[in-house]
Amino acid sequence: MSSLNQPLSEVDPELHGLIRQEYDRVMSTVQLIASENFPSRAVLEASGSPLQHKYAEGFPYLRSKKSDYVREWEKDGRYYEGNMIMDQIERLAIERAQKLFGTEYACVQLFSGAPANECVYYAFMEHGDHAMAMDLANGGHLSHGSPVNFSGKRYNFMPYGVIEKTGIIDYDKLATDAKEHKPKIIVAGATAYPRIVDFPKFREICDSVGALLLVDMSHFAGLVAGKAHPTPVGFADIVTTTTHKTLRGPRGAIILADNERGKDIDRAVFPGIQAGPHLHQIAAKAVCFHLCMQPEFQKYAADVIKNAQLFGDEMMKQGFKLVSDGTDTHLILVDLRGRDYSGNKAAKALIRAGICCNRNMVPGDERPPMQTSGIRLGSPFMTTLGFGDDDFRQVAKWIKRVLDDIKNEEEIAKVKKEVAELCATFPHPEFRL
Ligand SMILES: *Cc1c(COP(=O)(O)O)cnc(C)c1O
Repeated sequence: MSSLNQPLSEVDPELHGLIRQEYDRVMSTVQLIASENFPSRAVLEASGSPLQHKYAEGFPYLRSKKSDYVREWEKDGRYYEGNMIMDQIERLAIERAQKLFGTEYACVQLFSGAPANECVYYAFMEHGDHAMAMDLANGGHLSHGSPVNFSGKRYNFMPYGVIEKTGIIDYDKLATDAKEHKPKIIVAGATAYPRIVDFPKFREICDSVGALLLVDMSHFAGLVAGKAHPTPVGFADIVTTTTHKTLRGPRGAIILADNERGKDIDRAVFPGIQAGPHLHQIAAKAVCFHLCMQPEFQKYAADVIKNAQLFGDEMMKQGFKLVSDGTDTHLILVDLRGRDYSGNKAAKALIRAGICCNRNMVPGDERPPMQTSGIRLGSPFMTTLGFGDDDFRQVAKWIKRVLDDIKNEEEIAKVKKEVAELCATFPHPEFRL
């Protein structure tokens, strides 16, 4: 019999076993990586559905010849036949994204966050053009002009940063530097910034130098969708976001804008940078946006912030310093400067205790990126799995026990056992495997 119809556990027990092991690892330890989340079962079902097969290069519409701004949904914009159903799926994802975030235009084909930013740069800049974005060491993302990334090699990015003492973006310096650097695009939004970005201020600075404002809300998009965080829509010219972080959707990304910019974004995405869209992921994005519009998701978003805040308060009570002394969002950044271990050592000790986080640079960090003087801790994943106030407070106490005696493997093993006991009391999400 053909292996086509056999379950994974039978045709490939080795890989099946590894997936099982990874699931068990996740469910028996504490996940604090701020960019991670566990997707809903319905998202996983759509993502693992038989929609992988189809080539659908193009869009489920044509741009009107009469006007540049109108998408003609009834006309065939694909390069392959047989996309009648796929057109409906992609349209559903587009319309739900537009409704969820309140924009005129959405592109749902982006494979991931970094290519989404690449498409925006490609649409609105020429090679060598000037741009500005948050410094990597201050919480920026690789795709925001890092010298080792395509963005930093193709475009002339000038970084901006935070005021070291307060951890808040130095808007005054940004405004002055923008006048000198004359960027075509200013990127707002980062991977390790615990505070709300001042969108009106960014708009004002962009207007003063004629730059486009790109808000990359990859980290906090779920908080925006859940109405627990201000929206950049209305201030930004273009918004990019991943769908797999706080949005709790499948791996992937979207771009939001008005129709006028949408026309250029469409061309940059296809045929500019990407080819065949991943319809199984687009279907899963449609499910994700549907779930984000439910009242339950608003409670989730509010809980994510509440949990991050009380987690941060407990960390400070345990004697840790936080960048900007707290958070408005889903993440906290722990400043370990002045301690005799690096962020790397801290993260490695914590994972041995069943607590998973990542090392992170802090403002003014003197250690190199592989060492760092900080760790980043996020609440989205464990809030999804049902952790509440007491659980996050307990995690802060465990972190204190591990880091205060970082070489004490006996204590680390004790914490690991307690972690596993707590995790076992939470119902594990079901999925088909
Ligand atoms: C995660 C992230 C990205 C990149 O997303 P990938 O899907 O990993 O390519 C881009 N920008 C920001 C701000 C992010 O946090």
